[in-house]
Amino acid sequence: MSINEKYKQIKDIGEFAFINRFESKFDQMIKDSDMGIGDDCAVVSINETQNHVITTDLLIEDIHFLKTEISPFELGYKSLAVNLSDIAAMGAKPLYSFLSIGIPTSTDIDYLDRFMEGYHKLSQKYNVPLMGGDTTKSPDKIVINVAVIGISEKENTHLRSMACSGDLVCVTDNLGDSAAGLNILLNKIEQTSVHKKLIKQHHLPEPNILEGMWLAKHKQVHAMMDISDGISSDLKHILKASQKSADIHLDKLPISNELNSIAKKENWNAQEIAASGGEDYKLLFTVDAEGFDKLNADFEKEFNKPLYLIGEINEGRSEISWFKNKQKLAISKMGFDHFS
Ligand SMILES: [Mg+2]
Repeated sequence: MSINEKYKQIKDIGEFAFINRFESKFDQMIKDSDMGIGDDCAVVSINETQNHVITTDLLIEDIHFLKTEISPFELGYKSLAVNLSDIAAMGAKPLYSFLSIGIPTSTDIDYLDRFMEGYHKLSQKYNVPLMGGDTTKSPDKIVINVAVIGISEKENTHLRSMACSGDLVCVTDNLGDSAAGLNILLNKIEQTSVHKKLIKQHHLPEPNILEGMWLAKHKQVHAMMDISDGISSDLKHILKASQKSADIHLDKLPISNELNSIAKKENWNAQEIAASGGEDYKLLFTVDAEGFDKLNADFEKEFNKPLYLIGEINEGRSEISWFKNKQKLAISKMGFDHFS
């Protein structure tokens, strides 16, 4: 360690460089049949045919949520939803959850009851019982950690590393609503019923559990992950793990009528919000081009909504090339500046 290195702080290197500093030391301890850091969930082999998948997520007041904006019911619901979304990303069925929470001592019991009502509501929807956790006092902010364990058939476990050249890139639903909802809250924009629909997507995201399990059973589907940071950064994880590149068409991103109408009114670029806005918690996956039409027809029959084809996987070095009306765009390394 150099002298300069000694005085560096986490903000100087970022989350991923921090993980890189210790990941390999633990890798040596992991069995060949299992997988640690690097996908939506860890994978632990149970027997010849099945895996457990395990995920955990941390939410901190004022970093991940504003107590003044999100209701306690919504916060409880969302705390579990973001974890279930990672289980969906593996094509797995969620089994159990664990909840640890740090609470300032001045927190109202009523607030906590309503938090647990939201958590329970989503637990009930997918029959995922809360099996344990921890509660502790926190100095002045709420801290929430949830862990979920799921199960998947080995042959149906979908990793980020499974994208192939020639695959099509697809998503399961509209993109950008959640980011637009957050922006409405942060900028205190006056809310109509349309604005409120976008905010609802931000506060009550619906994990694509059933869609993930359904897609996972289809051999045409290759790499899969959930969309938590926006496809412009999430897709790069698939590209890096699969050592591929992608062409993505901005004009093919699915955008809700609500986002289109508010974007017009506020002078936002809806396509760029759809490309880079976070917290959609839908699924991003790659599919064999030959098998797409049949997969899409069957998906529509099952879920009453289509899949959205947004681009293609190519050979290359983890880069996304962006297109609009078939013209390649020059997008800076900084990415999109979608609310300017
Ligand atoms: Mg994820």
